[in-house]
Amino acid sequence: MKQDIDVIVREVGLRDGLQIHPVFMPTERKLDWIRAEAAAGVSEIEVTSYVPPKLIPQFADAEEVTVRALEIPGLTVSALIPNLRGAERGIDLGVHKLNFVMSVSKTHNLKNVRREREESVADFGRIVELVRAQPEERRPLIVGGLATALGCSYEGRVSVDDVVRYAVALVEAGADELVVPDTVGYADPAQVRAVFKAVFAELGDFPVAAHFHDTRGTGLANVTAALDCGVRRFDASLAGIGGCPFAPGATGNIVMDDLCFMLDSMGLRTGVDIEKLIEVRKIVSETLPDIEMHGAVARAGLPKNYVSAVTRLAA
Ligand code: ZN
Repeated sequence: MKQDIDVIVREVGLRDGLQIHPVFMPTERKLDWIRAEAAAGVSEIEVTSYVPPKLIPQFADAEEVTVRALEIPGLTVSALIPNLRGAERGIDLGVHKLNFVMSVSKTHNLKNVRREREESVADFGRIVELVRAQPEERRPLIVGGLATALGCSYEGRVSVDDVVRYAVALVEAGADELVVPDTVGYADPAQVRAVFKAVFAELGDFPVAAHFHDTRGTGLANVTAALDCGVRRFDASLAGIGGCPFAPGATGNIVMDDLCFMLDSMGLRTGVDIEKLIEVRKIVSETLPDIEMHGAVARAGLPKNYVSAVTRLAA
């Protein structure tokens, strides 16, 4: 982590937000969004997903978006990979980080990728092997994602023991980092504390990110609970765009702008200029006028005489 950053915020709107949006966002506009957000200080962006384009046409431009995002100085470019083929595409493009996802819920994993969870862990192991077989300068970091860790639309509550079991399995298989997502937005702060405490008890100070959805209004409360457990990496999407494929009309990821404001307000430096970040919303709203935009800070403005965490610390 950079010296002057306390919490890493990672934009996932271009992937998690756009994946269920029926209108294709033109490649140039996606790149405008990525560039503007990087310029506002966001240091890591999940720019696309290497799924077959016929499955999700929104990602038909995955190659071009990746290659051109990689030209932005200082930006960590990540992408979702559903499988080994996705990892191959990412490695060929030189992407910095591969985000692999399996589901902790047995039913969700079977429905989503038609595999038992152990088979997904084995798939992950093969991806690690492939990455490690590359020359060092071509090796992306590999993130193990534990979808449905905080609730599943088929099974409801997911056992903490299962979350820990698959967290350990992915780390043993060679993950550089983990992400614990609340895929369907069921989590509450007490549950977040229980899950992250259990994961850290087993993994020590291994890098674990949190990925919350605000589907039921608990998103930022869950962030504070995760902060208390020691989490210092959070996913969010600009204007909270996105939704839940299992709950039509539901809101999506926590709002990046509100997340940055809350962290900054708490004295935690994110490296992000909130006013510049709010400006980026225009790129999305002008390009996709039908997309639902959220965000309390964008609506209400910053508090009077607001002083950023960086300035306060320097004073
Ligand atoms: Zn998500």
